Amino acid sequence: MRCLKCKGTAQIELRQHHAAYCRDHFLDFVRSQVQRSIERLKMCDAADTVMVAVSGGKDSLSLWDLLHGLGYRTSGLHIQLGIGDYSRESREKTAAFAQERELPLTVVSVEEEYGASIPVLARAVRREPCSACGLSKRYIMNRAALEAGATVLATGHNLDDEVATLYGNVMHWQTGYLARQAPVLPATHPGLVKKVKPLHLLTEREMASYALLRGIDYIVEECPHAQGAKSLLYKDALNLVEAQSPGTKQQFYQGFLERLRPLLKDGDGAQLRECERCGQVTTGAVCSFCSLWDRARLVRQPVP
Ligand code: SF4
Ligand SMILES: [Zn+2]
Ligand SMILES: [Zn+2]
Repeated sequence: MRCLKCKGTAQIELRQHHAAYCRDHFLDFVRSQVQRSIERLKMCDAADTVMVAVSGGKDSLSLWDLLHGLGYRTSGLHIQLGIGDYSRESREKTAAFAQERELPLTVVSVEEEYGASIPVLARAVRREPCSACGLSKRYIMNRAALEAGATVLATGHNLDDEVATLYGNVMHWQTGYLARQAPVLPATHPGLVKKVKPLHLLTEREMASYALLRGIDYIVEECPHAQGAKSLLYKDALNLVEAQSPGTKQQFYQGFLERLRPLLKDGDGAQLRECERCGQVTTGAVCSFCSLWDRARLVRQPVP
């Protein structure tokens, strides 16, 4: 197998692109895919300060590495969820990555900031950990980015993540979620930060190869709560199809972005306002994050 660019020995074959690359040309391919997505969808530019949400996994650390390497002004945000060894190792890997590259990193501990770890919160409110976790992460990411003065928040969702989410949303006809599934969510209110997913066209395998070839030390273990998650089942199902028919995932996702999503109305027209408790943007009097912590009777009154 020969590299498409230099005809040297290829290290990775990308069947969906009918291409194979050597190490250096594969890294170039990933960088150019990311740069193209950023420019085409106007995700960010040199004037932006980009906060990258980093879990310590391959996607988020690779995203930070890519954005920094492409010359964007970046900082990292790591949310300590308090999920045992998984969270400890995530924090160590993230902190080591930032330190080696002398990049600024903000760490928000859910337990220290709000009074309980995600597993304790989830038990208190009798919700699945992923549900309490997802809501808390979305809130903290927006709030931390605003407080840091970042103009853009970038997350490491890759093509496989997006396709699995799309598949789940279609399976259950979650039209509201479908309308909000996008590689760019603009800031529609001064209290909201623009959100972008620069890796949305790169596969999980491509990102694992990128991290490996760049020598990025990331946490390999999944969060223990991910076991049995529907998204993993959907990924397995889609991988079976992809193995027989390379390119299906990309076609499914891009077809959605180009043909269906423009027809969907984003949001239900509800007026955005500030939460009475914390001042963050919401549609009701009290935001869902504050309500969740109220129910857990653990919330500390955050300073608006
Ligand atoms: S698997 Fe669930 S609990 Fe674990 S980090 Fe992801 S959303 Fe949070
Ligand atoms: Zn080459
Ligand atoms: Zn609130």
